[in-house]
Amino acid sequence: MEQKIRVGISSCLLGNPVRYDGGHKHDRYFTDILADYFHFVAVCPEVECGLPVPRETMRLTGDPENPKLLTSRSSIDHTDRMLRFCAEKVRQLENENLCAFIFKKDSPSSGLHRVKVYGESGQAQKIGRGLFAAALVNRFPLLPVEEEGRLHDANLRENFIERIFCYNRWKIFLRENPDYKKLIDFHTRHKLQLLAHSPKHTSKMGKLVAAGKTLPGEELLENYELNLMEALALKATVKKNVNVLYHLAGHFKKLITGDEKAELIELIDNYAHHLAPLVVPLTLVSHYVRKHEVSYLQNQTYLEPHPAELMLRNHV
Ligand code: SF4
Repeated sequence: MEQKIRVGISSCLLGNPVRYDGGHKHDRYFTDILADYFHFVAVCPEVECGLPVPRETMRLTGDPENPKLLTSRSSIDHTDRMLRFCAEKVRQLENENLCAFIFKKDSPSSGLHRVKVYGESGQAQKIGRGLFAAALVNRFPLLPVEEEGRLHDANLRENFIERIFCYNRWKIFLRENPDYKKLIDFHTRHKLQLLAHSPKHTSKMGKLVAAGKTLPGEELLENYELNLMEALALKATVKKNVNVLYHLAGHFKKLITGDEKAELIELIDNYAHHLAPLVVPLTLVSHYVRKHEVSYLQNQTYLEPHPAELMLRNHV
């Protein structure tokens, strides 16, 4: 890979001792595996807004839509300090060219989903979002974001990492003076990948590109980007992948023998019945694409949306 993809991350996940108790939450999947592809930009909102290590724990309290950040025991209010930091930090991050952000779960500053918000009675509801995570999502609504805990789920991990690589390709496309012809090419290469996530978006985006000549360039690109990231955020289910696999198989109809076709259909069926991972039929498909030089398929990102070494399609 020419250049690593820039990804923001909660600092404690890299092993930096920035937590309230002087510890960290090092996750080796990030530093030992993803670090080969991603350049991590670490952020610890609590330390960077000026709080010490160690420090008193904090929690969100009050209105879940507009919570306060208070220390848990002494109720010192750090809301304004944190919100000032968040506003400045998201401005700085505009220059970091991030393609994703990975958050530490449950934190009143960094948690993305179901963070506890305490009511007046002292009861907590898991309905909040950490203040920094909220500021980042508001500023970069299309940026792929996830929590480290959810990335232990193979399907969520695959979806998230796939979105990161695709967002990176899109950003490279935007940097290289995009024109209408290049957009058609980008869309053509991503068609099957999009189809595996959302046939509805694929059709909508096809129409958008077809009518694109009549739209101002900027509006076309903004609209395309919105649909691209919306589509990829939807799960690529087994059923949708099977649909794409049959679509791929259709291209070899006249190129492979009856036995070869039967073998391919059997592998697709095994995948459809959760007896084999997606990588199994896809390996054979890729072999036929190379062997028969099927030009339309050779450039399809669906065949390699992320590096094979990450083994994201090897789960059943
Ligand atoms: S969860 Fe966020 S605020 Fe807490 S230590 Fe980690 S990076 Fe810092």
